[in-house]
Amino acid sequence: MNPAPEQHDHRRLGRALDLFDTDPLMGAGLPYWLPDGAVIRHEVEEYVRELERLAGYRHVYSPVLGKRELYEISGHWSHYSDDMFPPMHLGPGADGEEVVLRPSLCPHHALIYRSRAHSYRELPLRVAELGGMYRAELSGVLGGLTRVRAIQLNDAHVFCTLDQAADEARAALRLIRRAYADLGIEAARYRLSLPGAGGKYVAGPAMWERAAALLTEVLDAEGLPYEAVEGEAAFYGPKIDVQIVDRAGRESTLSTVQVDFHQPERFGLEYVGADGARHRPVMVHRSVVGSVERLVARLIEVYGGAFPAWLAPLQVAVVPLSQAQVPEAERCVERFVRAGLRAELVGPERGSLGARIRAARLVPYQAVIGPEEAVDGRVALRLRGGRRLEPLPVAEALAGIGAGVRARSGALWSESPL
Ligand SMILES: [Zn+2]
Repeated sequence: MNPAPEQHDHRRLGRALDLFDTDPLMGAGLPYWLPDGAVIRHEVEEYVRELERLAGYRHVYSPVLGKRELYEISGHWSHYSDDMFPPMHLGPGADGEEVVLRPSLCPHHALIYRSRAHSYRELPLRVAELGGMYRAELSGVLGGLTRVRAIQLNDAHVFCTLDQAADEARAALRLIRRAYADLGIEAARYRLSLPGAGGKYVAGPAMWERAAALLTEVLDAEGLPYEAVEGEAAFYGPKIDVQIVDRAGRESTLSTVQVDFHQPERFGLEYVGADGARHRPVMVHRSVVGSVERLVARLIEVYGGAFPAWLAPLQVAVVPLSQAQVPEAERCVERFVRAGLRAELVGPERGSLGARIRAARLVPYQAVIGPEEAVDGRVALRLRGGRRLEPLPVAEALAGIGAGVRARSGALWSESPL
């Protein structure tokens, strides 16, 4: 039933299923999302926002551009410029200002924190954003949704005391594992990414040591096997990387947890402690599902296009047996849509019943309406995979499907009403 593994390549499936595409005129590494792909993206974004909201995060929006000075302060300018787009020089009307497409969200969040005075009572302060960032990837490595130049990142920064940092990093790691279980993604391995030789990393051996010890403590406390790898840290601190492997066997980082003493120092971040004195917070950077692009690429490959109902671009195909049931089928579609489900009429003009059912084989639910069902307001549900249910009232079908979708369930139908 499932396509062969090579057919699971997200680039091939993304085009075949009309999820996303690229245009040379828009540019390499700048994919656009078609309506069906946009539905999946919207659903995963909403899922992540809810997960974070329940975990005590507050969401912000910040611009995708910043002045060059901002990245000079953060250290990106001197340690990360190879991955950044060249600055844009604004004209004399802007006093010769230079702005940069941001290579990360951290500096913006540090400024948001700094914009208000903080007491120890507010910490940990968890600031989250699903925001755009840019990476000047070389054209040779670009492909599909996994290596792109415009990235929508699921990011957050927890500003906390030193005593809270390990707990916060540990909670972030748990959130990652929870999200993977909910989304059906598997972590291939955990990596403790440490600095390597060369001038890529900011100075401060004591700071690096303290941050690495903290992350090691977190991995050990969670009982997770991991490998320590030198040369994979961020320029400002070590990190825990959650690695995934795609269908072609390529490994990449999806999620990260980082402990950072550098940026709070650079931005002069403070809070007032219980002692009334000023203290420096620690920044825990974390991304639960990484970039939306890479996450959706993974989901496309994991499910081969047969998405769980809550993610499926089309959830219910309403299939009238013949022209005579079309009006009833239209009413049925309207009821599903009004209830917040994605339903569509697949009418007889699209071919025989068998052909229509085959064409909709990736759709989680097919609601077939024949002459008998049309008379007493019922539908015969066929679940993806071929299972058929006894005809049941439209209201019951709607309630059952809706409950599963709202619960983001992986199962298509529960016998006991949810
Ligand atoms: Zn960050």
